[in-house]
Parts: sequence; structure tokens; C-alpha cells
Amino acid sequence: MSGRVVVVGGGLAAGTVVTQLREGGHDGSITVFTEEPRPPYERPPLSKDLLLGTGTEEKALVQQADWYAENDVDLRIGTAVTSLDLAAREVVAGADRTPYDHLVLATGSRPRHLRLADESGAPVVYLRTLEDSRRIKSALTAGSRIGIVGGGWIGLEVASAARNADAEVTLVESLDQPLLRVLGPEVSTIFAELHREHGVDLRLGASLTGLSRDGDRGVLEVAGADPVPCDLVVVGIGIEPVTELASAAGLTVDNGIRTDERLRTSSRDVYAAGDVANADHPVLGRPVRVEHWDTAIQHGKVVARNILGEEAKAEALPYFFTDQYDLGMEYVGSPGPDGYDRVVVRGHRVGDRVFTAWWLRDGRVVAGMHANDWDAISDVRRIVGAEVDGDRLADEKVPLSEFGAE
Ligand code: NAP
Repeated sequence: MSGRVVVVGGGLAAGTVVTQLREGGHDGSITVFTEEPRPPYERPPLSKDLLLGTGTEEKALVQQADWYAENDVDLRIGTAVTSLDLAAREVVAGADRTPYDHLVLATGSRPRHLRLADESGAPVVYLRTLEDSRRIKSALTAGSRIGIVGGGWIGLEVASAARNADAEVTLVESLDQPLLRVLGPEVSTIFAELHREHGVDLRLGASLTGLSRDGDRGVLEVAGADPVPCDLVVVGIGIEPVTELASAAGLTVDNGIRTDERLRTSSRDVYAAGDVANADHPVLGRPVRVEHWDTAIQHGKVVARNILGEEAKAEALPYFFTDQYDLGMEYVGSPGPDGYDRVVVRGHRVGDRVFTAWWLRDGRVVAGMHANDWDAISDVRRIVGAEVDGDRLADEKVPLSEFGAE
């Protein structure tokens, strides 16, 4: 229960580790280094509640600021770790060296940058921090024009919040559907319909050929279409894990910091958690790196349990959710590189958009989701991973309760 713990990171994985350690009875010292000017916080509100004006920044904090002092956690906000000295078992932040018995790297990720946007001088924002979210929120006013590059999670959630504020939205996505790589063509088309219905000017399969500045505004240039003037351009084209400290220290890095099933890196007593961890998955049988909220929580818990002396594995299946307009969805599973060979959609696709969708490979359900059918999440959790008869699953007269039971 004792030993000195140092956590590097300011997101949900970092906040969860320290919370779970203190709740689990860890009585050794805990130090948290975060470069950001506030305690660790979670990011889903940045593209949802905070943009919609339905949430507060305080609610995004994993723990309120005074919790850290009350729980004897040394929180070093606004402090960049400059290197890791694994031989001396010390974390280096400038002239300061902090010894550890257990080190947790929860360094997260950073937005991928688009050079033509960075060089344009146009008002461009990437969404990663609370400050970025504030900046986007201030631009979401009736009649303002928002350009979005990227039809992934950030692009679609920002589009939804912008339309909610009656801003005009043009979204440019290079693939033929939004969320295509995640959901496949059968289901991603539902998201395209949803956004078109709500008035988003979706430019799919479109390449951004230029971005220029015109006074305070930016002008999006899309091949084969008129230029689109914008008050703000939001770029959401994916993220990359922040691995420099780990690489420089000699840890194994390959699409994130590699870990075993217990989230241990290649160095003894050094763990990685959250977006940055590419962890062997005991159920999926391959390394996975998941860039979602729930994984940060699950990893935070597993690392804390291991530091507390258990032998915990990160075995939860990937889970994510989104809320866009009146569509809320939850998804469990991971088709992985082998993909799927059949998709079953049950329920009403159009109109009220209440449905479940199932991705199958070789007769096994590799992923499932529900939209606006919140009770179905227990079916999704039970059925994903099970072998099923795809034709029966497609028959809506057969209730979901008949699938996936042991
Ligand atoms: P993302 O979900 O990976 O989507 C990025 C999208 O932009 C992809 O469709 C990508 O297509 C496309 N793209 C890439 N380069 C482009 C270009 N030059 N022009 C137009 N489109 C381009 O990433 P994100 O939306 O930036 O989100 C960042 C991270 O936050 C992700 O890890 C995401 O999971 C997380 N997040 C999650 C949620 C949620 O779970 N609800 C909400 C917000 C953010 P390609 O696949 O072809 O590159």
C-alpha cells in the first residue's frame, strides 16, 4: 500500500489513477505533473456539453482542485516533465527531480496538424484543451460560419453543437462517409443523413485544396466547388500519441507506448494508461490503442490496482459513445484489422433513429452498438464476442435476449 507514485499527465487516465489509489488505501506519496493550468479533466464535454452550453468546466474536472491537497496529492500544474531517468527512477522537470517507486505515463495525445491550415494565417483551431473548446464555443453564434475539416468524432460533434447555435456549417471529409473507418458504409451513412437533415453542408469524398485568409476570416477551398468563407475553421483529422518522453527514455514505443495486459511498459514499475498505451488485449488477442473516454477510466483503474498489489488486466472491450442532435449511441467491440463480413441493422433506421447494429465475422459478433435504445446496452455488452446465427440475428421477431447467453 505504500511506495512513491508519480503520474505524468493531465487527463482522465491520470485523474482516475490517483483517485483509485487513494480510494484503494495507497498511503505513499503521489505526485502528478500536468502541463495544463488546471487539475486533470475529462474531454467528452469539450466537444459536447461545453459547446452546447449545458455543462460547466468544473464538472469536467476528475476531482475538484482542493481534493488533491485534502488527499495529500502533490499536484504540479503547469509543469512540463522534461525527461525520465529510468536508471535512477526519477522524473525530471527542469532542475527538479522526483523519485518514484511506480511511474504512470498518461501523456495522452495531440491533434494531428494540417500544414496548409497552419500556414494559412486563417482562424484555425484544433480541439484538445478546455481553452480550445472555449474558443470554438465563442464562435458558435447564430449566423456565424464554421468550416470543419474532418468528419470524425470531433468534426461531427462540433457540427452538431454549431447547428444547435444556428451557425452555418460546412464540413469537408476526404472519405465518402463520415466515421467511415469506424462504422463502415452501412452505418456511417446514417450519420451523413443525420447531419444533412440538420442543415450541415457535408462535402464528402472532398479534398481540401487550400485555405486562405481574408481579413479576420478563413476561406476554405474545396476541389470542384465555390470557396467557402468561414469565421472559424475547426480541424479534427485525428490525433497522435504523445510518446517523446517514453522514447527518449528507451521504452518500447510502437503506435503508442507498448504495454503488456497489465499495462506495464518495457521498464519495471513504469505503466502507461489511456490514449497513449498500446496494450496487449487479453480478449482481443492483439495490441490495441483506444482513443476514447472509457479506456482512460478502465486503464486508470487497472494501473491503480496493480500498484496496490493486485494482478489486474486491462480486459474491457473498447467502448465509446456520442451525442449528436437527438441521436445518442453507444458502441462496444473492435473489428480490428480483420474487419467484418456482415452487418445486421435491427430497428428503424430513418425517422426516430432507434436501432441496434451488429458487426459479424465468421459467425461471431465483433462489435455492436445501439442508437437511442439505452436499455439495449446490456444486450450489446452480452452479445459482442458471442457466436450467433446471423440470419436469426437479422430476424427482428427473434428478441435480442436469445443471443449471447452462456
Ligand atoms: P478521428 O475520429 O480519427 O477522425 C478524423 C477524421 O478526419 C477521419 O475521418 C479522417 O479520415 C479525416 N481526415 C484525415 N485527414 C483529413 C483531411 N486532410 N481532410 C479531411 N478529412 C481528413 O479524429 P478526431 O475527430 O480528430 O478526434 C480526435 C480524437 O478524439 C479521436 O481519437 C477521437 O476518438 C476522440 N474523440 C472521441 C469522441 C467520442 O468518443 N465521442 C468525441 C470527440 C473526440 P482518415 O481516416 O482517412 O484519416
